[in-house]
Amino acid sequence: MADQSPLIQLGLVGLGTIARNQHLPSIAQVPQLQLTAVASRNATLDGVAHHHDISALLAAHPDVAAITLCTPPQGRFDQAAQALAAGRHVMLEKPPGASVCEVQALQKIAKDAGVTLFATWHSREAAAVEEARRILSRATITGVEITWKEDVRHWHPGQEWIWQPGGLGVFDPGINALSILTRILPQPVHVTQAMLEVPQNCQAPIAAQMEMRMASGAPVSAVFDWRQTGPQTWDIVVRAQGATVTLHDGGARLVVDGADVITAQDQEYLRLYQQFAALIASGQSDVDVTPLQLVADAFLLGKRTEVEAFHDA
Ligand code: NAP
Repeated sequence: MADQSPLIQLGLVGLGTIARNQHLPSIAQVPQLQLTAVASRNATLDGVAHHHDISALLAAHPDVAAITLCTPPQGRFDQAAQALAAGRHVMLEKPPGASVCEVQALQKIAKDAGVTLFATWHSREAAAVEEARRILSRATITGVEITWKEDVRHWHPGQEWIWQPGGLGVFDPGINALSILTRILPQPVHVTQAMLEVPQNCQAPIAAQMEMRMASGAPVSAVFDWRQTGPQTWDIVVRAQGATVTLHDGGARLVVDGADVITAQDQEYLRLYQQFAALIASGQSDVDVTPLQLVADAFLLGKRTEVEAFHDA
């Protein structure tokens, strides 16, 4: 039977890397959603109404029921608050904000306005994450090691905001690992120590190490590094009594005791937009600040070391 749910008109704000690479193609695949308008200071999109900023978009399109924010975390609170207060549903890129409390404030604004707030964690939608969670749900975990190393010049060329306060630096990809970690582990983790390597001309780290502990006492370590050229590494190894469960490739591949269990294509953003449509239809919100809280705690507890200046070119 054909889907009878009404079409949700969508406005997208911030036509940058992730909007073009992931959001636009994924929105096009979800029949409940129709991209009606974009807000961008610098770019336009053929066949879609264009506005300079979110205020102009909201004013021009009372029929746009939902907004997706693909802008940097700094400044996203004002955009989200404005859209929620105007009675629109909002989907936030990760990290959901530049601080933990601003996201909690948005939750209240959304609740008061009776609209959906969806704080996305795209890496949780990687193909193997739910199976890893299922396998680990009753496991006795003895330790976890995260290795997340990539080349910032390849993935974030020219992104000034990422080096500024609130931009997170290497925690911008590192928070993806933490979003998976906090999904697959059956217990909460907390930070015990952190080390932040900050280029002398930047406000955010280019590398970081975190020591965490599960409620059981099992150790969890994470190494994040943006200086890796050549092969890129996005691995989480969970050692449990009786099995070693490894997620490779950012959660797309699952290996248990050396045997491949899942390898699948990336459908992370398609799943996010399907969930956004479902949350709107059911009148629910989905906001989990735990990965952002862990990053905030790493900044609270972290020892800072100044390292060589970073230059994009
Ligand atoms: P980006 O390439 O820098 O694009 C961000 C866009 O936001 C810009 O093109 C700009 O669009 C708009 N913008 C509004 N205010 C801005 C400001 N003060 N400074 C810079 N841009 C501003 O960044 P991105 O990589 O798409 O990342 C955006 C968000 O998505 C971040 O939270 C990031 O963590 C997340 N994300 C990125 C990736 C990735 O691989 N790049 C993956 C997953 C998630 P207009 O010129 O159109 O106004």
